[in-house]
Amino acid sequence: MLSNLFSLLLFCLCLSVYGNNKHDGSIKHDDPMLNTETPNYKEYCVIGAGPGGLQIAYFLENAGRDYRVFEKGYKAGTFYLKYPIHRKLISINKRNTDRSNKEFNFRHDWNSLVSHDESLQMTKYSNDFFPPADVLVQYLNDYATKLNLKVQYNSTMHDILKRKDGLFQMWDQHNNAYTCKYMIVATGIAKPNIPAIPGSELLVGYEDLSIDLPKFRNQSILIVGRGNAGHETAQHIY
Ligand SMILES: Cc1cc2nc3c(=O)[nH]c(=O)nc-3n(C[C@H](O)[C@H](O)[C@H](O)COP(=O)(O)OP(=O)(O)OC[C@H]3O[C@@H](n4cnc5c(N)ncnc54)[C@H](O)[C@@H]3O)c2cc1C
Repeated sequence: MLSNLFSLLLFCLCLSVYGNNKHDGSIKHDDPMLNTETPNYKEYCVIGAGPGGLQIAYFLENAGRDYRVFEKGYKAGTFYLKYPIHRKLISINKRNTDRSNKEFNFRHDWNSLVSHDESLQMTKYSNDFFPPADVLVQYLNDYATKLNLKVQYNSTMHDILKRKDGLFQMWDQHNNAYTCKYMIVATGIAKPNIPAIPGSELLVGYEDLSIDLPKFRNQSILIVGRGNAGHETAQHIY
């Protein structure tokens, strides 16, 4: 997966504002608890247990660092529970390269994450060149479990800020506060790209598109965009 151009690991560019430990919807710049309390402190906080977050967690775990991954979903890799919507990965699972060089082979495996555990290779999970997306979800969760990665699920983090003392602070959906020295945001890119063209309000976005083929019967279909989502959609309906 890391060798894949798609892989994203976004490091946080956090706002320099200040807040209190119990977040009530407004950030109080003059709260007396600010910079004196360090609730739920971890040296490293990673937000998101997609491929990016899990991969950095692996290296933090192996280096014996004090870290925790916060994931809003109930399991790892939740992006792939919905996407790609036609449920087939667009990243190749190249099992046969005609080479014995592990490094070479790994570079042609677009899905696996780096680890010392050879059972954790997507090539061992599916024979398909374009495997089902659900298999990747299974793989990512096995990766997190087998490698003992410290992931806290069902935790939607918000209002990340940097305090005066240099620590980062954030809250989950229950307004529990967390502090950390280093903040790594691996939340992916989840924003639809709506084209600035007249009539764009009439388009159905990829994220809302039905995969129910009878709905396309006898229709003339215009696909706007010739990226992966467009090609995947065209292949499904043609
Ligand atoms: C339509 C589409 C199809 C794609 N298909 C493929 C494919 O087949 N193969 C491939 O290799 N790549 C594919 N990609 C690219 C794919 O997004 C990346 O390869 C990969 O998922 C990026 O990993 P990531 O860990 O950076 O982000 P993600 O996989 O998006 O993971 C981010 C995680 O952060 C969590 N999160 C978000 N906000 C918060 C929050 N506030 N608090 C806590 N947790 C949070 C999410 O729940 C999620 O689990 C596709 C992309 C798109 C848009």
